[in-house]
Amino acid sequence: MLEYQAAKDLLINKTILVTGAGDGIGRAAALSFAEHGATVILLGKTVKKLEAVYDEIEQAGYPKPAIVPLDLKGATEQNYLDMAETIEEQFGHLDGLLHNASMLGVLGPFEHISMDSVNEVMQVNVIAEIMMTKALLPVMKKAPQASLVFTSSGVGRQGRAFWGEYAISKFATEGMMQSIAHEYEGSNIRVNSINPGATRTAMRANAYPAENPQTLKTAAEIMATYLYLMGNDSVGVNGQQLNAQ
Ligand code: NDP
Repeated sequence: MLEYQAAKDLLINKTILVTGAGDGIGRAAALSFAEHGATVILLGKTVKKLEAVYDEIEQAGYPKPAIVPLDLKGATEQNYLDMAETIEEQFGHLDGLLHNASMLGVLGPFEHISMDSVNEVMQVNVIAEIMMTKALLPVMKKAPQASLVFTSSGVGRQGRAFWGEYAISKFATEGMMQSIAHEYEGSNIRVNSINPGATRTAMRANAYPAENPQTLKTAAEIMATYLYLMGNDSVGVNGQQLNAQ
């Protein structure tokens, strides 16, 4: 998918929400979507990071973004419903939603898995996605064409020793993607997942501390697949598991 060349104005007049937009792949996606004409809604938990991305977008002269500070760990269904209402009031509809934020949790033997950590990972990586998607689907229905994108992982497609809680959360994400894709087949909403592949971010460094980050692609270098799924070139693509590398 890296060979896909997005038109400069691919996302013009589109409003796209990116979760975890303050850092890593989410930050790169927000910048790339804005560069291609989208009005980006930056959602994340560290306001300072979101403000830095906001400033970068504004300084580049891209469409003025919006910031939604939200910690997915503690957010309630009402928070998502309020957010959906605000988005509808402000933008009329939502053209794109990139579920990108997630946490790694603790890697280790299954026998040592901590239920506190499992609960946290499932809350952030799965339950928050369910609540946010449920709240935003009605606003996405109002878009001419809408794209819902989930972020998976290699271990969301094939389990691996010591990756238990994170792998389980990513399999759940893939299951959610497939179920919603099937339900909305033939509608204006397409639903797909991306496995970014090994990418130079804080999460990757945390999972592979001994690895040399310079050997990895940067988040900015894997944006072709993200752009493809968000733009109208992918209309009709539904229920697919894509790889960004
Ligand atoms: P990072 O850890 O670099 O960034 C994660 C982002 O998610 C941050 O902006 C972070 O915000 C946000 N986030 C985390 N927890 C919460 C929360 N409770 N509420 C709101 N926002 C939160 O990760 P990556 O960029 O590497 O990963 C992005 C996605 O790609 C994830 O879904 C990850 O699982 C997936 N992935 C990444 C791979 C890689 O090699 N990097 C490989 C395979 C999959 P803050 O900075 O404020 O904490």
